Amino acid sequence: MENKPYFCPNCRSNRVKFSQITKYSQSFIKDAITGEIVESGEAVPIAQSEPEIECLVCRVSGNEMRFIKQAEREPRTTTPTTPTYV
Ligand SMILES: [Zn+2]
Repeated sequence: MENKPYFCPNCRSNRVKFSQITKYSQSFIKDAITGEIVESGEAVPIAQSEPEIECLVCRVSGNEMRFIKQAEREPRTTTPTTPTYV
């Protein structure tokens, strides 16, 4: 995962709460007649070229790049706290 700010392109309110979705591959052997699983192998994580990110506010998920690009389009601005009146 990249060390860059994220911003959810869907709800546009979340920059902090995300989860990474990892896909696993698990082999199994089925009984051809009953359909029962008779043997299952170990779950192996599938390496993905780009991590899939889920927004924990609106539950939308997508490629990490979508979240990074949205943060670049709408960067978080730090509001100045100095009063302007004289
Ligand atoms: Zn969202």
